[in-house]
Amino acid sequence: MAILKIKKYDDSVLREKAKIVLKVDDDVKKLAYDMLETMYLALGVGLAAPQVGVSVRLCVIDVNLSKKSPIIMVNPIIISCDVKKIFEREGCLSFPGFYENVKRYEKVVVRYTDLNSEEREIETRDLLSRAIQHEVDHLDAKLFIDYLPKWKRRFVEKKAKKNRNVNNW
Ligand SMILES: [Zn+2]
Repeated sequence: MAILKIKKYDDSVLREKAKIVLKVDDDVKKLAYDMLETMYLALGVGLAAPQVGVSVRLCVIDVNLSKKSPIIMVNPIIISCDVKKIFEREGCLSFPGFYENVKRYEKVVVRYTDLNSEEREIETRDLLSRAIQHEVDHLDAKLFIDYLPKWKRRFVEKKAKKNRNVNNW
């Protein structure tokens, strides 16, 4: 496994819509395991492939950071969401040291392919639901700062510029 470099907020790859993974081959598996290792080292709860410069629909999540039950999602799709939305503090490994309240659905159902090429569907709530929405957004070229008011977004971008060398794996 290898530690990958996490792309920071102003990297253009974060604004590209990621491509569908056609086949879960060894390259995809290696990328997923490298992303997991990178995420654990950076103390994040989720990481999407565009954040390591690979524009494909793959993300890894482990909201407990226990390393026991990470979720690796290939081509995840949110197929339903609860009407209820909640505000919670949220961060992103592409914005080191920065946290902001973002409104997300409390519960979502997500469908994805696992590394054994099996289709799975899980109903999630709370932090896992939030992490999934955040990571699927990355695959659609959307960042959490896009949910903030314009003035706040400018402030974050300025601050992120200063922090860009923090946690620069
Ligand atoms: Zn993120």
